[in-house]
Amino acid sequence: MDTRELMKKATMFHGHICPGIAIGVLVAKYALEHGFEHSPDEELVAVVETDNCSVDALQALLGTTYGKGNLIHKDYGKSNYNIYSRKSKKGVRLALKKTILEKKKLSRDEKIQKLLGLEPENVFEIRDIEYDPPRMAQIEESVLCNICGELTMDSRMMNYQGKIMCIPCYKEFKK
Ligand SMILES: [Zn+2]
Ligand SMILES: [Zn+2]
Repeated sequence: MDTRELMKKATMFHGHICPGIAIGVLVAKYALEHGFEHSPDEELVAVVETDNCSVDALQALLGTTYGKGNLIHKDYGKSNYNIYSRKSKKGVRLALKKTILEKKKLSRDEKIQKLLGLEPENVFEIRDIEYDPPRMAQIEESVLCNICGELTMDSRMMNYQGKIMCIPCYKEFKK
């Protein structure tokens, strides 16, 4: 699979070219070459431990998207990517190697070019992980907030002083 072709597609989605998107491209490339096919529905699930630019490459190339609920962000601030396939019941984890970030002297463009010339195996610690993905996204009923009247997912409603209210209203009320 051609890294630069993948890079083009990911950059189109992301909006600009950057080292982050190049890292995400390499994650996606590894997944696509190891039996994790692009996911029109929720066949794949990506659990990412960062919210930086790289995640957009997964959205563009793997079809693991925020809107479908098969992109889960854990706010750990780590460049770790866990990908599960509901089809093959497999999981893989890619963790960015320290050495890649050490060469601080490289310019932004040099970093991008360097990354694009590498294989995922050079950039990440890669290992198979137990198949243990988060559950499928649930379709849930929305109800009206007693205070602001806006439609709100039932599971996000707070019950406070006998009123059913949304989280922002609850925060206002408690002040
Ligand atoms: Zn970026
Ligand atoms: Zn409200």
